[in-house]
Amino acid sequence: MANKKLIVGLTGGIGSGKSEVCRRFIAKGITVVDADIVAREVVEPGTPALELISGHFGENILLTTENQRRELNRARLREIIFSNPSEKDWLERTLHPIINQRIREQLKNAAGPYVILASPLLLETRQYLLVDRILVIDASEQLQIERASQRDFSNEAQIKAIMQTQLSRQERCARANDIIQNHGSLIELDEQVGSLHKLYMELAQNN
Ligand code: ADP
Repeated sequence: MANKKLIVGLTGGIGSGKSEVCRRFIAKGITVVDADIVAREVVEPGTPALELISGHFGENILLTTENQRRELNRARLREIIFSNPSEKDWLERTLHPIINQRIREQLKNAAGPYVILASPLLLETRQYLLVDRILVIDASEQLQIERASQRDFSNEAQIKAIMQTQLSRQERCARANDIIQNHGSLIELDEQVGSLHKLYMELAQNN
């Protein structure tokens, strides 16, 4: 008799293939809670978190949209925290509990035998504490750079700068329960997702 829903945390570096893998689990009817989407939702216009941010950094952290909504100026915020570790700390201390609360709610409300929390920073933040099992999507750094730069039309230096803020492949894989090797074709990716889906269905039965 299943009593507690199995929660799988899915993570990987930029360009490793997280979105491709998530799409495949979604196609199997599995709910994926996306930490990036939640992080954007909690600072939408009119939210308490956005109030806290404008209270702290001042009104010029907001910009006015075409439809006269005051929304977060992400570029400006990124600039401030990039050069100021104590402001970065403040922002993380303020936002992470709000984001994690919302993630917890979405995980709780998800239907289905198991649910996935997809987060690029699962292991870098306390989000790993929310999951029962860790799935890492792994690709070589060269492939990460090639795929991410093609997708985002960004250059190698920008992708490398983002990779610097993330765990190394070795550190990430060392903490995984399951690893998807995304060094081959998308068909090979399908097969690995298929096997893991089978495993998670079995684990969910006994959870
Ligand atoms: P992430 O979400 O981890 O940043 P994506 O899933 O968006 O990575 O993958 C990065 C890019 O590489 C996307 O354009 C995606 O379609 C492509 N991609 C991912 N895996 C493969 C693969 N096995 N073969 C070919 N292209 C891939």
